[in-house]
Amino acid sequence: MLETYPWWNEKHKKLADDVRQFADENIPKGEEIMWTREFPSDLLKEVAERGWFKAPIPKEYGGTNIGATGCCIIAEELSRVCFALAGAYITTIIGGTEQLLTFGNAKQRKRWLPKVAKGELLGAICISEPVVGSDAAGMETTAKRDGNEYVINGKKKFIINAGVADIYCLYAKTSDRIEDKAKYNHLSAFIVEKGTPGFTVERINELSGWFGLPNGYLDFNEVRVPVENRIGAEGDGWKVLVNGLNLERTLFAAGMLGPMREAIRYAVSHAQRRIQFGQPIINFQVNQFKIADMISRLRTARLLVYHTAHLLDMKMETVLEATTAKLFTSEAYKMLVDDAVQVMGGDGWTRFYPVESFLRDAKVNEMAAGTSEVMRTIIYRWGLKAMIKELKMPHRQIHRKLGVPISTTKPQAITKISEKSILQLLAEDYRVNPSLYMSKENMKERLTDISDKQLDKLLTSLKAKGLALLHKDKRGNITLAKATYKGLRQAKPIEYYKWFPKWIKKKQLF
Ligand SMILES: Cc1cc2nc3c(=O)[nH]c(=O)nc-3n(C[C@H](O)[C@H](O)[C@H](O)COP(=O)(O)OP(=O)(O)OC[C@H]3O[C@@H](n4cnc5c(N)ncnc54)[C@H](O)[C@@H]3O)c2cc1C
Repeated sequence: MLETYPWWNEKHKKLADDVRQFADENIPKGEEIMWTREFPSDLLKEVAERGWFKAPIPKEYGGTNIGATGCCIIAEELSRVCFALAGAYITTIIGGTEQLLTFGNAKQRKRWLPKVAKGELLGAICISEPVVGSDAAGMETTAKRDGNEYVINGKKKFIINAGVADIYCLYAKTSDRIEDKAKYNHLSAFIVEKGTPGFTVERINELSGWFGLPNGYLDFNEVRVPVENRIGAEGDGWKVLVNGLNLERTLFAAGMLGPMREAIRYAVSHAQRRIQFGQPIINFQVNQFKIADMISRLRTARLLVYHTAHLLDMKMETVLEATTAKLFTSEAYKMLVDDAVQVMGGDGWTRFYPVESFLRDAKVNEMAAGTSEVMRTIIYRWGLKAMIKELKMPHRQIHRKLGVPISTTKPQAITKISEKSILQLLAEDYRVNPSLYMSKENMKERLTDISDKQLDKLLTSLKAKGLALLHKDKRGNITLAKATYKGLRQAKPIEYYKWFPKWIKKKQLF
C-alpha cells in the first residue's frame, strides 16, 4: 500500500491512487518484459494517455505541473511494473525536459515541451563517453561553432533510451581553453533530434539487468545542429548539467522504491506459505527480523525521497538530500532484495519469481546516475560545509576538582604572551588531548590579542629550539602545533602530567 505523506496535496493523493491502480493492473505485462526484453512502448502509450508525462511541465506548455513530488509518485509506481517503464519515463524528464524548463528559452520550450507532455517525444541524457564516466567534465565530444550551426563529433556511452528517444540532451566541449576548463566554462548543452544526419546508434549494450530498457553507445559524426538547439549560453553546459542532477538522483531513487515494495510482498507471502520443520518459515524469528529490516529500509528510503522531492518543489537547495536519497536508497534496495531472496530460499534465486531480477537490477543503482563513491564524495564535502559550525572541537580544560578533561564554554584567557606561555598552553593541551595537535584557531581563542603573524613567529621559534612540532597546509600556513617531549619537560614538571584513578594502589606506581 502506497503510504501518502501529510505534506502531499489532494492532487498528489489522487495521482498516487490512479498510478497505483495502473501498476496493479499492469504488473503481469512488466513480468513478461523480464522474459521478452521488449521495450514497453504500449505501456508508455498508456502512461502518455493518462497524462503522466505532463507532471513536470507547466500548464502553458500543456502540462499539469505537479512537480518533483508528482514525478516521484509516478516513477515509484511505474517501477513496480518494471524498471524499463520507470526508466524510460524518468529519463525523459531528466533528458531534455528538466534542462529546457530551467535553462531553455520560450521558443525552445514551445517547440518541444507540449510534445513531451503528450508523450509524443521521449528523451535521453548524454553525458558519459567511452573515455569519461565519473569525471564528466573531462568529456571529449566536441561542438564547434560554424555560422548558425554547431558541428558535433564524438561518442556517448551507456545512454538510456538509446534509439527509442526522440530528443537527446547532449553535453559537448565548446572550448579547449585552459581558463574555461578551470572555471567549468568549456561545455555547452544541446538538444539533438533523432534523424539528424551523422547521428547514429553505435551499439546496444547487453546488460545484466534493467531488461527492456535500451542502453547504448551513440555516434556523432559531423552532426550539424542549429544554434537554436543550444540550451543556455555557450559555456553554460556544466551549469545546466549540475543543476539537473538533484532531480535526477531523486527520481532514480524513487524508481527503486517499487521493486523494494514488490520484493517485500514476495518474501512475506512466500514465508507465510512455505512449511519447514512443521511450520510456516515466517514463524522463525530470523525471517521476521529480515522482513523487519526490509520494512525499515523501505520506509526510510521513501521518506528521504519524498522529503527531497518536497524541498525541490519548494525550490530549496537539495544537494545533500538528493545525494543522500540516491546513496541510501541504492544500498538499502540491494540489501533488501538480498534479504528477500534469502527468505525465499532457492526459489528466490530462480527466474520464476521477479525477485531475482530485482537482485540484478539493484546493483546498477550503485553506478548509474553517479556511483556511490561519487555520492559519498559529494556528501562529505557538502555535509562538512553544512555542519561546519557544529563540528568545531569543544574547548576542553582540566577540571579543577575532578582533575580530568572536561569541555568548557569559558576557556581561560592567557594575557601574557611569550614563547613560555605558548609552550605551557601546548603542555596543557597535551594533558587534555595527548594524541592530538592543537589548532591555531584554538590557540588564538585562548591567547588574547595575538595576531597570526605574531603567533607564527613564536611557534616557529619554538620549533627551531626543538620544543614544538608544526603542521602546515598546502599553502605553507601553520595550522596545527604540538609540544615535543623536550618541550613538555621544559613547560611543566612531570607531576603536572601525572594522573591516576583513585582506586589504583600506590605500590603499583613509581
Ligand atoms: C545501466 C547504466 C545506465 C546509464 N545511463 C546513463 C545515461 O543515460 N546517460 C549518461 O550520460 N550516462 C549513463 N550512465 C553512465 C553512468 O553515469 C556512469 O556509469 C557513472 O557515472 C560511472 O562511470 P563509469 O561507469 O565510467 O565508472 P568510472 O568513472 O570509471 O569509475 C570506476 C570506479 O572508480 C570509482 N571512482 C572514479 N572516480 C573516483 C573518485 N574521484 N573518487 C573515488 N572513486 C572514484 C567509481 O566510483 C567506480 O567505483 C549509465 C550507466 C549504467 C551502468
